[in-house]
Amino acid sequence: MENKQVPHGRPPRVLLFPFPDQGHVQPFLNLAEFLSLAGVHVTFLSTHFIHDRLLLHSNVQSHFETYTGFVWKTISDGLPDNYPRLGEKGFEFFKSLHVVTGKLLKDMLASGELGSDLSPSVTCIIADGVLAEFTNNIATELQIPIIFSQTSSACSLWASFSIPNLIENGELPIRGKEDMNKLVNGVPGMEGILRFRDLPSFCRVTDVRHPNLQGATRANQKCTQGQGLILNTFEELEEPILSHLRTHCSNIYPIGPTHTHLKLKLAKKEVSSPSSNSIFETDKNCITWLDSQPLKSVMYVSIGSVAIMTRDELVEFWYGLVNSRKRFLWVIRPDLYKEAEDGKNVPEELLEETKKRGYVVGWAPQEEVLEHPAVGGFLTHSGWNSTMESLVAGVPMICWPRQADQPVNSRYVSEVWKIGLDMNDVSDRKVVEKMVNDVMVERKEELVNAADEMRKLAIKSVSEGGSSYCNLNRLIDDIYKINE
Ligand code: UDP
Repeated sequence: MENKQVPHGRPPRVLLFPFPDQGHVQPFLNLAEFLSLAGVHVTFLSTHFIHDRLLLHSNVQSHFETYTGFVWKTISDGLPDNYPRLGEKGFEFFKSLHVVTGKLLKDMLASGELGSDLSPSVTCIIADGVLAEFTNNIATELQIPIIFSQTSSACSLWASFSIPNLIENGELPIRGKEDMNKLVNGVPGMEGILRFRDLPSFCRVTDVRHPNLQGATRANQKCTQGQGLILNTFEELEEPILSHLRTHCSNIYPIGPTHTHLKLKLAKKEVSSPSSNSIFETDKNCITWLDSQPLKSVMYVSIGSVAIMTRDELVEFWYGLVNSRKRFLWVIRPDLYKEAEDGKNVPEELLEETKKRGYVVGWAPQEEVLEHPAVGGFLTHSGWNSTMESLVAGVPMICWPRQADQPVNSRYVSEVWKIGLDMNDVSDRKVVEKMVNDVMVERKEELVNAADEMRKLAIKSVSEGGSSYCNLNRLIDDIYKINE
């Protein structure tokens, strides 16, 4: 991936526009770096809310400013700084992005303020697939080529693409709790695999006119109208499902696992990675703690940047971990759980036991943690970034999916790739204890072997000549061709 010859003197300028949260911004930063390494000029557009936090907690600003033509730009998400952007208010956040941010984006593109003196005009947009509904309209109106990038798995995307099918064959809305363990028929290629409980969480509605379900369907439709679709996966992992997706979207670029792919590219060019690309303050002391733990002895626990727990769930998890008598490293974000209304705190005995075998952080350097030799398992919410990071580190998972694409990912991890176990939504201390023991002892060999096989495939795909390596080169070539 070398800098290309540019016929009329100016490299392409690509506008990158992620959905504003950690799990989307992080893979978009990886994309920004792939393009910058290939000589493409990048404009990275994020909301003020995200940009401020990113600059506060990471060193990405100085890191990216070493690339010629790289520009940071910010945009409003239409909400006051202290307005909750997650949970129950998530839909209003989405609406505000579509209405307020959409209009601003169009004005910024039309006025030319997203370029720089070196390359004044945006020649291509890479927008988050989740925002496809309005970004595709803007790109069409302004006649700027657009490529979408989805930060979810191909399998969850395909399940989501199949929503119209599921409505037509009467499988949506789901009839009731009693159907949750039954198999779904209307997702081609997933017959015999997917249960109703494994569908993306926005399918759990009683009326198919629900705005979340309708919004996802519209975004998916628009997503297929771009010039291509970038995915953080690799052909060997999701090949059968990618074939199905290609019937809707012929030009797909599976370039993952992107974080590993990027590490290899940076090492080759002798460029160091940013020390953090998080919007949260990272506590690196846990690495020192891990350094003093035996090989594969620690269960790493994190449910990502968005998901929350009730206080009861937290306590059940805590007892499960402590009772398993295994070592654990747990990310308890300051907003992970709501204090119980009755004012009860976490039982003292749990805090005492944790001092013996556990370590709690507010935010961990997760990629580094998963690659650490002391880590033997990952209790995860099955977010796609976390799943890919665990997979490429060869660490078996315990899946406790919460929302969005996570249930599908969890099903594939446990039933198709067989590199983890599915907790089936249960948060009972006995189940947690058993699952931790299964992964760390009883089923360790089988799971570690399967995870190791998958790890090798992942590394091969991003190494020279591998499928993701070639797909990334094709993406860069196509971006240069658009500019010709
Ligand atoms: N992450 C991290 N430190 C933590 C927890 C999470 O760096 O303590 C990162 C993790 O490496 C992943 C991202 O946050 O890249 C979470 O993305 P994911 O898709 O797994 O879940 P989401 O947060 O979007 O639900």
